[in-house]
Amino acid sequence: MLIVGIFLLFSACVLFFVSGRQRRLSGLPSGRIIYSDTHAWGNVEKPLFDHDLGLAGKPDYLVEENGRTIPVEVKTGRTPAAPYDSHIFQMAAYCYLVHKTTGKRPSHGIIHYPGRDFAVDYTPALENALLDLIADMRIAGRRLEVQRSHEDEQRCLRCGFREGCDRRLA
Ligand code: SF4
Repeated sequence: MLIVGIFLLFSACVLFFVSGRQRRLSGLPSGRIIYSDTHAWGNVEKPLFDHDLGLAGKPDYLVEENGRTIPVEVKTGRTPAAPYDSHIFQMAAYCYLVHKTTGKRPSHGIIHYPGRDFAVDYTPALENALLDLIADMRIAGRRLEVQRSHEDEQRCLRCGFREGCDRRLA
């Protein structure tokens, strides 16, 4: 239950933090358009977990590529020109978990949108941004209130936490 709670907290808080952190994320990869063979994708049966960070997550698929495991996340809806920052952080968390659980650092993860696939490079800068984000989230989790970080109604309409969110715009 604790694991699930931590993961849900992680997912929810990414939405709050991402837009307020743009200045610090100049090193965030924008994602490379790639072709990937969906037949080679293997289902993930159980969540990946890192005790040190108390982080758990379950990518949609894992792909073996040159002796390394590459996480894949499938998104539905509109295909953006570049991956959303929240999706990049989610992928960074999966790459972190793959590294911790397999002992091999993935070079990248793949975000699969309906119209296009992007490779997100798992750079040291992205890993550091992820660790900073998680540290910020832990601090925010101790506060009574967390402010909404955007004015985008569409983002709220697409948000999985909308029903329980008293900050939603739509
Ligand atoms: S509903 Fe809107 S304000 Fe609430 S968590 Fe989702 S995106 Fe943020």
